[in-house]
This record gives sequence, C-alpha cells and structure tokens, in this order.
Amino acid sequence: MTVRPNIAAMSGYVPGEQPQGGKLIKLNTNENPYVASAAVATAIQRVVGEGLRRYPDPTATAFRLRAGEILGVEPDWIMCGNGSDDILTIVTRTFVGEGQQIRSPYPSYVLYKTLANIQGADCERIRFNADWTLPENFAEVGDETRLVFLANPNSPSGTLVRPEEVLQIAERLPCPILVDEAYGDFAEANCISLVKENPRIMVSRSMSKSYALAGLRFGFIVAQPNVIVELNKVKDSYNCDALSIAAATAAIDDQAWLSNTRAQIIASRGRFEIKLAQLGLTVQPSQANFVWATYPGMPLQNVYEQLKASGVLVRYMDYDGWDEGLRCTVGTDDQIDACLELLKQILHSN
Ligand SMILES: *Cc1c(COP(=O)(O)O)cnc(C)c1O
Repeated sequence: MTVRPNIAAMSGYVPGEQPQGGKLIKLNTNENPYVASAAVATAIQRVVGEGLRRYPDPTATAFRLRAGEILGVEPDWIMCGNGSDDILTIVTRTFVGEGQQIRSPYPSYVLYKTLANIQGADCERIRFNADWTLPENFAEVGDETRLVFLANPNSPSGTLVRPEEVLQIAERLPCPILVDEAYGDFAEANCISLVKENPRIMVSRSMSKSYALAGLRFGFIVAQPNVIVELNKVKDSYNCDALSIAAATAAIDDQAWLSNTRAQIIASRGRFEIKLAQLGLTVQPSQANFVWATYPGMPLQNVYEQLKASGVLVRYMDYDGWDEGLRCTVGTDDQIDACLELLKQILHSN
C-alpha cells in the first residue's frame, strides 16, 4: 500500500484531550461553559420533526442571510463549513499546491502546518516577537508562498494584531491572508470590515466557542464574492447538514444571548487574570476566552499533571524557544475558582 510520501512523513494533528463523561472541570479546549441559546434546541427539534429525508441546502442560505445582516455583508460574501477547521481545509486546498508554501506566525494554531503538509506544501513559521507582536518582515514572503494564516486573537497567547496592522500586511502581501477569528467575538476589534477594503483578506469565524456549539460543527468565512465562487468549487457539496444549518442560524439570530454570555466571560476572564497573577504566574492580557500563563523556573508539566489528577484539565504547551505555559479556558466563576484553589495548593507545595 503506497500512501503519498508527504502523508507518510507527517504525524497528523492531535486535538486537545476530549475525555468523555466523567466530572472533570474541562478548561483545555476553549469550549464555552454556558448552554447555547434555547432557540438552538427548538430549531433542531423542528428539523427532526420535518424529517431528514432530503439533502440540505448546499450553501446554507438561511444562515448566510442572517449572518450577513448581522455582520454587514451580502450573503454572497459568506461560505459555511463543517466547523471552521473545514473552512481552513477548503481555503488551503483552493490556494496551495504541492511544493508551495504557507506562512503563519509561531507559536500559533498547530493545524495550519498539518493542512500545508497534506497538500505536500511547507509551513513557514515566523516567530512572534517576545511581546507577541509580529516581526517587521512578516509580510515579506517568498515566491512560493500562496497563503498566510493569522489566528487573531492568537492561540495560545490570546493577543490581538490590530486591524490597521492586518490591513498594512495585506497591502504588502502578494498572496491571500486568512484571518482566523475563531475567538473574534471575545476581542475588542475584528477584521470583518477589512474584507471590503482588500480582496486578499478573508476572515473565518467559528460557532464553537462564542456560541457554545463546539459539538455541532459549524463555521463560516467572509470573503469577496469572486473568492467565495472559487472556494465553493472545492468544498463538499453538502458540507453542512440540515440540523447544523438550522441550529447555527437560530444561534446567530440570538444576539442578546451572545452579548450576555460574552460579557460574563469577559468579566470572568479579568478576574481569572488578576488571581493567576496574584499566585505568581505571568499572565498575558487576553482578547479571547482563555488565558496564557507562564511561570519561568517552575516545571509546569508537573503542575498540569497535578491539576488533572485533581479533576481540572487545562492545556500544557511547550513551544520551541518559548517558556512552557498553561492555556486555561475561561470557564464559569466556580470552575475558575476550583482551578485557582488547586493551583494555590500545588504551587505552594512545589
Ligand atoms: C477552535 C479553533 C478553530 C476551529 O474551530 P471549529 O469551528 O470548532 O472547527 C480554528 N482556529 C482556531 C485558532 C481555534 O482555536
């Protein structure tokens, strides 16, 4: 059996742990701790009642109409996907071929490299400055670079590149830039309106984090209509099912739910940052629904293991050339307090 050499050579993306059942306090994959809008369950029940005999709308028109109104773009500027990871896959397949390159900052979302490698392409990772700003030469790409990925806010740092800077980068780039706004709803600023100013800018969004629908799988991209036409040729015909289209449409329609939940998470985030700093951790001010905490001199893998043994799961990360850190999702205040209490005990006994 011969697989393509680039597939044989890669190790495959490893998602964060997803323990099923149990009573773990799960702060490792940036899920929303609150229950989605009640309109979601109603919408799913309606579709189930109608039966699932027919294929879904291939382009999720109902969602695009409502999302377009909310975001201030026409529906033909939107394409939907089976989670925003599906969007990232479609974009990579559309723009990047064998032997070519994508560029992304480092440390950032690990999936970008996997997507490049599946195409037989390279991922050129440009290190962030120590303060998580982009280096001056970020837009200076080589001849083979076909796509730039920018997670914004970034993971694991939770930091934001301001839209003005994203626009300047796009103006200097010869290739498209995908601004991955999986955490955009938690940030002070976003790049949606820039899509109208520069045809190379595309913005992806996820319903998984801010709308509490990680189990549903729904995301979308905003790009100029001639780009959407090309992306639509690459996606699976029915990449979103009837249940997810109805549920995501109901979720985005409930903007009151979003603003309440966002306000709660942002308030909890501020509290979490202050208390982690009081425990001696170095905390990066976050624009997302997680915080990145380091503790130079303290072996954090050990701290992660002890937290896990006591029922609190966070994400331990050790990026080449960076202090190891813990990325902790902003859960409910009770979950955060449980995490902080354990950290206090663990750090004092080390
Ligand atoms: C969670 C995440 C995604 C994927 O979101 P889904 O819509 O669940 O596929 C994409 N990019 C980043 C940076 C993420 O953290």
